[in-house]
Amino acid sequence: MGNIQSPKLISALAEQLNYERFSADVYYALATAFDFLNLTGFKAYMHKREAEEREHARKFSDYLADRNATPVLSALPDPKREIPADPMKAGIAGFAAALEHEKTVTARINALAEMAFDENDPATGEFLLWFIHEQVEEEKSLEEILTKFRLAEGNGAAILMLDKELGG
Ligand code: MG
Repeated sequence: MGNIQSPKLISALAEQLNYERFSADVYYALATAFDFLNLTGFKAYMHKREAEEREHARKFSDYLADRNATPVLSALPDPKREIPADPMKAGIAGFAAALEHEKTVTARINALAEMAFDENDPATGEFLLWFIHEQVEEEKSLEEILTKFRLAEGNGAAILMLDKELGG
């Protein structure tokens, strides 16, 4: 396949690699916040998401290396994902924060795909297709979960059932 010719595209791909690492930290922060509230199912769900984000980061670094570009790892910002201390409100707030984060990721992936097209690199466009589909799935599943939270609102037993379901 050969090298990526556009330095702009290489740095945008490296930035996304680091953003996927940041995403892993965002889910890690949410997992620890839920752990603090003893919501162990929500915690387990966020750790699963964290592991998936690590895999996403790996896909970017593997791809950069495959195209003979150096994947540069940078320092990451503070994930700062605080949620309410009230366990009745924590779930919906934490999952809404996750959806908001994923919408940012979707916008970034779409912009990257547009750049790959503008920079005449169809292989990168093809590589990004997986992520485009992945973002549709991630937003959809978080929206489904948020609907359940809205239905469960104020009902401790229903929230406990959701905790059990999402941890399984
Ligand atoms: Mg991701």
